[in-house]
Amino acid sequence: MLSKRLEKIAKYLVKPIKFADIGSDHAYLPCYVCLQDATAIAIAGEINQGPYLRAIETVTTNQLENRIHVRKGNGLEVVNEGEVSQITIAGMGGKLIKNILEEGKSKLTGVKRLILQPNLDADIVRKWLYQHRYALIAEEIIEEDGYIYEILVAEQVHFTPRITEKELMFGPFLLNENNSIFQEKWWRERDKKEILLNEMRKATHTPNEKIQQFTKEIRLIEEVVDDGN
Ligand code: SAM
Repeated sequence: MLSKRLEKIAKYLVKPIKFADIGSDHAYLPCYVCLQDATAIAIAGEINQGPYLRAIETVTTNQLENRIHVRKGNGLEVVNEGEVSQITIAGMGGKLIKNILEEGKSKLTGVKRLILQPNLDADIVRKWLYQHRYALIAEEIIEEDGYIYEILVAEQVHFTPRITEKELMFGPFLLNENNSIFQEKWWRERDKKEILLNEMRKATHTPNEKIQQFTKEIRLIEEVVDDGN
C-alpha cells in the first residue's frame, strides 16, 4: 500500500500525465500513478545504484516497462528538455531539492507543474520557486507515523510572483489554513529553536545578530500559533 504522503502527491498530477519522479527510490509513486491511469507515462530518476535497481524491480514486477523509464543520474540530468510537463521530488531535504532544481533549471522550460515534498527547510524551496517564476497554487501538511510532511504544488507563471517573508517561512496556504497539524509542527519548531537559543546564549562566541534572529523567529512562531494566524 502506498503511503498517505505519496498518495497526496499523486493527487496533484494533472492529466494527461507525463511526469518525472526524481529520487524515486522504489519507484512506488510512478508505479502507483501508472497503475491508476492507463495513459500515464513516467520517468523514475535515481542517483544511487541500490534505489535504481529497486526502481527497476518494482517497474518490472508491475509490468510497466513500456510506460515507466527508470534512469540513473543526478537530479534533472535524467530528463530531456521538453520531455515532461510535471516533476515530483519528494522525501529529501529542502536544500537538496533546491539544488536539484537550480542545477537542472535548463530542463524546466516546459515543466508547468512542480510537486515538491521537502522533509525540512521548505522555506528554501519556496524561495527558489518564487525567484524562478513558479508560484504556489496549493500546499498540504499531513502527519504520518508521527512525522509531519509539507507538500508544495507550484505552477509556472509568466511574471515575477510575490510572496512575503512570513509566507516563505510558513507557506501561504498553510498559514491561511492554520490547521492542527500546522500548529503541532510549529510548536515543535518553536521548542527546538528555544533549546538552540538557550545553548547559543550560554556559548560566549555566538554573534548577537544570530541570537536576535532566533528570538525574532520564535516570536513570529508564537504569534502565528497563538492567535490562529
Ligand atoms: N521519493 C521517494 C519518497 O518520497 O518516498 C524516495 C525518497 S528517498 C528518502 C530519497 C531518494 O533520493 C533516495 O533514493 C536517493 O538515492 C535519491 N537521491 C538523492 N539525491 C538525488 C539526486 N541528486 N538525484 C536523484 N536522486 C537522488
